[in-house]
Amino acid sequence: MSLTHSPTGGAVRTVVRYGYAPLILLGVNGGAVALVAADASKLWLLGLLATAIALSFTAERLLPYDRTWNTSQGDAGRDAAHSLVNESLILVSVAVVPLLAAVLSATFPAAALWPHAWPLPAQVLLAVLIADAGITLVHYASHTVGALWRLHAVHHSVRRFYGLNGLMKHPLHQMLEMTAGVAPLLLIGLPVQVASVLALAVAVQLLLQHSNADYRVGALKYVLALNEGHRFHHLKWAGVGDVNFGLFTLLWDHLLGTFSYDPGRRFTSEVLGMAAKPDYPTAYLAQLAEPFRASGACHAGPAGRAADVDDDHRLGWARPPWGPSGRGDQAALPRAR
Ligand SMILES: [Zn+2]
Repeated sequence: MSLTHSPTGGAVRTVVRYGYAPLILLGVNGGAVALVAADASKLWLLGLLATAIALSFTAERLLPYDRTWNTSQGDAGRDAAHSLVNESLILVSVAVVPLLAAVLSATFPAAALWPHAWPLPAQVLLAVLIADAGITLVHYASHTVGALWRLHAVHHSVRRFYGLNGLMKHPLHQMLEMTAGVAPLLLIGLPVQVASVLALAVAVQLLLQHSNADYRVGALKYVLALNEGHRFHHLKWAGVGDVNFGLFTLLWDHLLGTFSYDPGRRFTSEVLGMAAKPDYPTAYLAQLAEPFRASGACHAGPAGRAADVDDDHRLGWARPPWGPSGRGDQAALPRAR
């Protein structure tokens, strides 16, 4: 009897369905807080990240949302390259935090604002909320401003939805997002200990947000920016995918009116990606170059300027063929099941 159909398999899937998100959100992030509080070597944080990646792949295999998304579609090497480069950039940014903090504390009076007396978990939570605002708003702008969309389109070229997709980004776009998220924190005196936990929390959140594991968090899916909501963001049509921009929370989406959720919606590779760019480059170096080519523009017409095209094609997407659909209008989509 295979694990898939055995009673043991059923119990394992139930544990993954309801235990995976708490394990990662509280266990891994909590572990990072404990390691930093104990002044442990930063190598332990790297070990924790490796553990989170291993848990992500394991959960995706024990309880896949779509079994075919666990199989490489010729993209595994490229995604590993994106992950390695982007994760290294995150680590380098953490490494320069003490230097930046030293410079800022000497020159910028607001650097004394950080609440050092708060318990470490509360400091981390504050950092997460501030970083969430900066990163989410740059993400929102990336679906509106042509030059930003060129860089962000790399992330939207994915046709299968799994953990490593979170780090599948153009490195310049990731640096823009991280700068928007971390710069306000540095200005008010972010300590390197909190920056270290935040760096791990971002990586872990990206794994969770794009996970192919069919885990559930109940009503928290309306508050936390996890995979059930983020799949709607990767729908390939103009307007339809301009929803659920949040990294950690959906707070900004509720405020911006871009929150969207339909419990009956099912997703397949056919509805993910970019409808107007079905031939987006798939190789790593070609993806790094694409934002700087004419074909990487929001609109691949002769003018190549976002301002010259109507809303339907502003982001280089195409409307779904079954009628008009505005932001968050999931009802216009046919149900897969
Ligand atoms: Zn996006």
